[in-house]
Formats: sequence, structure tokens, C-alpha cells
Amino acid sequence: MHDLGRRRFLARGVSLAGLLAGPRRLAAQTAPTSAGPADPRLIEDLVAANRILVDQGVLDGYGHVSARHDRDPTRYLMSRSIAPELVTAADIMEYDLDSDPVDARGRGSYLERFIHGELYKARPDVKAVVHSHSPSVIPFGVTGVPLRPLYHMSAFLGAGVPVFDIRTASGEMTDMLVRNPALGRALAQTLGARAVALMRGHGNVVVGASLPQVVFRGVYTEVNARLQAQAMALSATVTYLDPEEARKAEDSIAPTLPRPWELWKRKALAK
Ligand SMILES: [Zn+2]
Repeated sequence: MHDLGRRRFLARGVSLAGLLAGPRRLAAQTAPTSAGPADPRLIEDLVAANRILVDQGVLDGYGHVSARHDRDPTRYLMSRSIAPELVTAADIMEYDLDSDPVDARGRGSYLERFIHGELYKARPDVKAVVHSHSPSVIPFGVTGVPLRPLYHMSAFLGAGVPVFDIRTASGEMTDMLVRNPALGRALAQTLGARAVALMRGHGNVVVGASLPQVVFRGVYTEVNARLQAQAMALSATVTYLDPEEARKAEDSIAPTLPRPWELWKRKALAK
């Protein structure tokens, strides 16, 4: 009898704990508050970034690009779950850094949105993020051959390009997708302070201080990977940028970013 009473007490205790946890769970399910309307120019740039990255062969029917909200660093903006080439201003949604949508209104979210939220948490300097399956980088994520800056346009790779292995990060076999915050955090840890990380058997993640910069980096990461594979096929000896050359080249190219951006944006939005 005594044991039975104790079990009942414990059972009641569990249900009481459940009741107490109830309001907290409800609060967690409540959508985050909005930071207010983003700058329309930022929205226009984000729409353009989606289309440019498709035009340049970085994104296809998959992949995504986001921007940190201009009014609140704890919010970011990204399209609902559609192919990047189809994105319009009406598709842009607001998320908090846990990647919960502010106002979903039935719109679907990208499964791998946690990449963006966790990178914005880990890197206050980052204002824009691209996740792509950029085809030319894939071999460098699976062979142990490091991706290195081959020419001045990709000098931003000079700090090194780490490879994120989701199998090591999760400790088990996954479906390869960064589909929860823990995997997003592990990816952010692999990236560290760098501009680009490869994702083994999947693609890459690219970060920048602005949408024009992250688009530039996404484009030239893809081009560098293609050129590096070509150079390695031609010769066993390839000369890469020295780290000091990379730093100097990156500084020289930084002020010229508006040049390709204006061209790419005009073409992308004219369609
Ligand atoms: Zn992906």
C-alpha cells in the first residue's frame, strides 16, 4: 500500500510538473514579435541576391540566401520555401535567431533555416548568409583536397576553408541536412571567423558583411573551385595566393564590389 501511495504521489508530481511547464511550452510556441518593416531597399537586394545566385550557377532549385534585419540584429529575413529564382518581395519572411518565423501565415520554411539563425547568433559581424549546393565545391568537401585561393578574385578564401562533416558533428548517420539548431551551431563552430565552410557531400555556407559581399563571395567560391580543379588537372604543382597576397588583394577588391553588384542586380531584376 505504501508503495502504491508513493507511486500515486510521484505520478501526481509528474503531472503537476507537466502543468507547471504548460505555460512555458505555450510561450515557446508563440510566434516571436516582429522588428517592424525592413528597409524596402534591403528586401529588393535580397530578392535580387536570390536571382543573381541562380544566374551565376551558385543556387539552382535549391539553396537559400538571407539578410540580417536592418532594424533588429536578432531577426533575419529569408524567402519562404520556394525556388530562389521565383522569389519576390512578397515571399520574404522574418525569423528570430532560433529560426522561428514571426508571421508564417501558412507559408512553409526552408528545412535548413537553422544554418542562418545559428550563424547570425555566432557571428555578430555577419549581415548576410548563403547556403548553396554550389556544384564545383563538392569535390573539395569529399576528397581532403583543400579549397585554396587561386587568384585575386577569391582572396577572401585566404584564411582557409574548413570542411563541416555532419556525421562527426551529429555522431550518427543523418539525411545530410542541417535540420536543427544543434547542427547549425556545430556548422557555425566549424566556420569560426572565416568566410566560407564546405559541407561534406552537400555544399557550402558563405557569410558576408552585406548582401553584395556575400553574393560576390558565393560566386567567386564557385569559380575558384572550378579553376582549381582545372589547374590541378593540368599540373601537380599549383601556385596559390600567399596569405599576405590574399590579405592585400582582398583589401583592394573590397571597394570595387558595387561594380559587379549593380550589373548583376540590374540583369536579375529585369527578368
Ligand atoms: Zn542544403
